[in-house]
Amino acid sequence: VQFGEGGAGTFSDGKLTTRVTHPRLHEISKYFVEFGAPEEILYKHKPHVGTDKLRTMVKAMRERIIEWGGEVRFGAKITDLFIENDHIVGVEVNGNERIDTTVVLSGVGHSARDTYEMLHKRNVEMTAKPFAIGVRIEHDQAVIDESQYGVEPSSLGLGAAEYSLVYHDKETGRTAYSFCMCPGGQVVASASENGGVVVNGMSLYARDSGVANSAIVVNVGPEDFGNHPLDGVAFQREWERKAYELGGSNFHAPAQTVGQFLGLSQAPSVQDSTYSYEPGVVNCDLHDCLPPFVTSVLERALPYWGRRIHGFDDPAVCMTGVETRTSAPLRMGRNEDRVSPTVGGFYPMGEGAGYAGGIMSAALDGAETAILCMAKYAKPN
Ligand SMILES: Cc1cc2nc3c(=O)[nH]c(=O)nc-3n(C[C@H](O)[C@H](O)[C@H](O)COP(=O)(O)OP(=O)(O)OC[C@H]3O[C@@H](n4cnc5c(N)ncnc54)[C@H](O)[C@@H]3O)c2cc1C
Repeated sequence: VQFGEGGAGTFSDGKLTTRVTHPRLHEISKYFVEFGAPEEILYKHKPHVGTDKLRTMVKAMRERIIEWGGEVRFGAKITDLFIENDHIVGVEVNGNERIDTTVVLSGVGHSARDTYEMLHKRNVEMTAKPFAIGVRIEHDQAVIDESQYGVEPSSLGLGAAEYSLVYHDKETGRTAYSFCMCPGGQVVASASENGGVVVNGMSLYARDSGVANSAIVVNVGPEDFGNHPLDGVAFQREWERKAYELGGSNFHAPAQTVGQFLGLSQAPSVQDSTYSYEPGVVNCDLHDCLPPFVTSVLERALPYWGRRIHGFDDPAVCMTGVETRTSAPLRMGRNEDRVSPTVGGFYPMGEGAGYAGGIMSAALDGAETAILCMAKYAKPN
């Protein structure tokens, strides 16, 4: 889910919304249509494509790259950088091949922990940054539709309803919010390491699974986990490992109903509720795989959100842990011309470098970096 062709976005909800505004975003959407996205993404307020369409779009992009003379290499991991006089002169592939180059555009995503470590060792400037952690919550889509529309969405010509929730906790000063809400989707296993459980959400274009899921997360920062650039990774890993152990050490996810989480008497167990995570869930106490400063905020946020969306905090609603990969836990330094201040010719970009938070903003950051490099380095014909 986090790696491979198309990156983390291939198996996703394919929401193409972004808080970034930039004229090139429309151009990017037009490319998506050219490669198979529905034309409606050019004018819809909240466009989405779904995993089924993304997979074929990404393949079509790869074929165009090859047609235009590019090379795409599967199973090829950059395992080291060769640097001379603080400037890149080459990269190592899979520990046994060297490619000489003085320019590298690097968009490794937010889960390439081994690559993060290697880049840190090679003096690529990076600092710890805030992100958010929490759980996935699942509802019958009909509950969300009823609360948001009051009637069947199809009677209004609409698709499965979405929501966006925020709670500012006065007691701690932290904010809880819903993130990556996937109407009519499913919760997916998104671990990228053995011994860790991570949840996320995805959907197909039709968004017709009947299940609404969303991350509900609380902001965390270096004040919680430390200022070393890789401290955020260690913090994510700690909770992912706890979740793995709680789930039975076989990639089942720990899960709990809202009623159990809030300590209500006679709360239903997850076996009686809706959940979609595969290979399965184990009824646990989610307080055991999240820090107390996160669970306490979620405990106050849930009833608050239940007053906004009727049924949101129903005692039978299932929550699955842990959602730790909401954004990169570090940011790589960049000069005004987007190059690393410590390694000349090395251009960190996209979500893994801390400059994007979704498909569109990552695409924009990559496109802008590539255009800049083309202007700077392209040889005249
Ligand atoms: C399940 C899921 C659902 C999501 N849903 C949405 C959504 O609906 N809408 C949205 O906007 N965003 C969504 N996101 C987030 C979105 O996918 C990311 O923001 C986006 O993909 C980031 O793009 P990127 O190119 O920066 O990195 P990535 O997409 O993570 O790509 C990084 C690439 O680098 C490769 N790589 C890593 N290390 C190396 C190395 N050492 N050598 C060579 N290659 C390497 C990886 O294999 C991968 O292909 C979702 C993410 C997930 C996991």
